[in-house]
Amino acid sequence: MITQKHILEVKNIKKHFQVGRPSIFGQDARRVHAVDGVNFHMYRGDVLALVGESGCGKTTLSMLLMGLEESTDGQIFFEGNDITRATRAERKRLSQRIQMVFQDPYESLNPTQSIEEIVSEPLVIHKLAKDPIERRLRVVNALEDSGLKPAADYLKRYPHELSGGQRQRVVIASALVLEPVLLVADEPVSMLDVSIRAEIINLLADLRRKRELTVIFITHDLGTVGYFADRVAVMYLGRIVEIGNTLDVLKNPKHPYTKALLSVIPVPNPRLRKKREILQGETPNPINIPTGCRFHPRCPVAIEACKISDPAFIEVERAHDAACLLLVK
Ligand code: SF4
Repeated sequence: MITQKHILEVKNIKKHFQVGRPSIFGQDARRVHAVDGVNFHMYRGDVLALVGESGCGKTTLSMLLMGLEESTDGQIFFEGNDITRATRAERKRLSQRIQMVFQDPYESLNPTQSIEEIVSEPLVIHKLAKDPIERRLRVVNALEDSGLKPAADYLKRYPHELSGGQRQRVVIASALVLEPVLLVADEPVSMLDVSIRAEIINLLADLRRKRELTVIFITHDLGTVGYFADRVAVMYLGRIVEIGNTLDVLKNPKHPYTKALLSVIPVPNPRLRKKREILQGETPNPINIPTGCRFHPRCPVAIEACKISDPAFIEVERAHDAACLLLVK
């Protein structure tokens, strides 16, 4: 049963990629378990940070949300409709409501188009402006809401004339021009200078308030989420291992993986530094998921049972869930 108030509900979503072919001895083809049973929900205006190392499945999950990948199993309800079953026409309509901000502002802008052409292109594709005047007004609005003011100073310029931060604002304006309700921001600051990262995060926070945007903020850096996200979901090897309100997760992490990620965030005050928890080894190959708890080969507090039992997700405190055998009372 779907709660109508949820703008987004992700239910046991999976994406497995086949690698090679079945063997002549009848063995199935190998599969990469990129996303392997993810569940979460969001309300209108929520900001959820999806955090994890590269290869944990967060980008594949964003592709599923955007309809750019087909799921292997599970459902994604957006505004009450299962978008994993959407037709091509429904997908096109949905793509106005769900927009993505990609991480690389250098790659995602066509260098031969002016800023006005870039930002107006989605309106042309979706036939959303009745004439050039309305189109220009919407472009100006999106640019100014993205902090490029006055917009008239930018319309005729080209990407190479802008700084990295300004290009990322153009990328955000291209998403905003369609007036989406859900924004999926995939590492939106990772390619930018440290000095301008905070500006872009503040911009996303302002837009969320001003436009009542729901935002999924994908990042490998748990240190950036405190400024902006209401909730944090930590992903490991295709699954969420901990989810909760940002302050609860940052101040009182429950899963050993979250604790390890938090322990390596640089803290200027030496008295507040925690003991660094360096994880052993690399993230396992998602073709060969470890038995039991998939984190056990790297977990500093694993016990024998962790090799056998796959821990269930349990509520450890109000609206704070984690999957670890040591949390079972
Ligand atoms: Fe570590 Fe075991 Fe908990 Fe997994 S279930 S996180 S291996 S202690």
